[in-house]
Amino acid sequence: MQIIDGRKLAADIRTRLKEKIAADGGTPHLAVVLAGDDEASLIYDRNKKKAAEEAGMICVIHHLSADVSQEEITGLVEKLNNDREVTGIIVQMPLPKHLDSFAVLRHISPEKDVDGFGVYNSGLLATNRRDGLIPATPKGILYMLQSTGENLSGKHAVIIGRSNIVGRPLASLLLQYDCTVTVTHSRTRNLAELARQADILVAACGKPKIVKKDWIKPGAIVIDVGINRVDGRLCGDVDFGEAAEKAAYLTPVPGGVGVMTVAMLLENVWEAYVKQKKKDL
Ligand code: NDP
Repeated sequence: MQIIDGRKLAADIRTRLKEKIAADGGTPHLAVVLAGDDEASLIYDRNKKKAAEEAGMICVIHHLSADVSQEEITGLVEKLNNDREVTGIIVQMPLPKHLDSFAVLRHISPEKDVDGFGVYNSGLLATNRRDGLIPATPKGILYMLQSTGENLSGKHAVIIGRSNIVGRPLASLLLQYDCTVTVTHSRTRNLAELARQADILVAACGKPKIVKKDWIKPGAIVIDVGINRVDGRLCGDVDFGEAAEKAAYLTPVPGGVGVMTVAMLLENVWEAYVKQKKKDL
């Protein structure tokens, strides 16, 4: 069994990005809109800021109070859309319950939508186009799969989870690379049986260690997206020890998909910057 080392892959991507930004001489500018004081969101956003700054980007966190109105938050997004210095915008999810997240995401200008969660970029991905901004987690997973050197064409990928940030966009992305894709969710019957048919098994359901040895086809590539805290320790949706006995390739948690997600987000900020710069020339 080979471990797909997210830390190593992500470090290489970030080093190359830093070099490209230094050579360009300009400064991509990421604006993060954060509403409320959700602990996990605060940590994610601080990490994004640190990573962006290490790469030579500007990252400004616009921290709004938990009771911000729909008009105020969309007003801020509008202002950032119109600010020529800002080249990437993220609205940190989840937003406080009284806000309409979909409406806020729709406001982000497609060319600055570096999370790729808006309808325009989601639509490009779903309609088999490669010129949009692809959500960072699926993009990182594709990169990890490609890093194995295995031919993806014709492989059966089974994805556990159908969220808008992981399962659905990943399904569209893997279809673009000629996988045969099965998307499963909490109402799926015979999940273990489906999982056992997977050449590529992606667990993204947020259920600690749900994927056991007998869910895995011998020689499968197993990608663990889950980030769960159990008894104060991080673990994925895959039982790593058991999966290691069956899989040919396996991603660890931590040090797997999570670190790739940050690297791919920075890639998206760079891509968005380059496209906007070209348009200005
Ligand atoms: P969501 O809660 O939005 O979606 C979870 C999905 O899993 C849903 O589609 C749900 O089905 C499905 N599901 C839940 N329980 C089961 C089950 N027992 N069997 C099969 N399917 C099930 O989660 P996210 O997609 O946001 O995140 C999933 C996990 O990935 C979490 O642990 C999260 O922390 C992690 N994550 C990690 C990232 C990274 O960078 N590594 C990035 C994003 C998320 P249904 O639709 O029917 O409810």
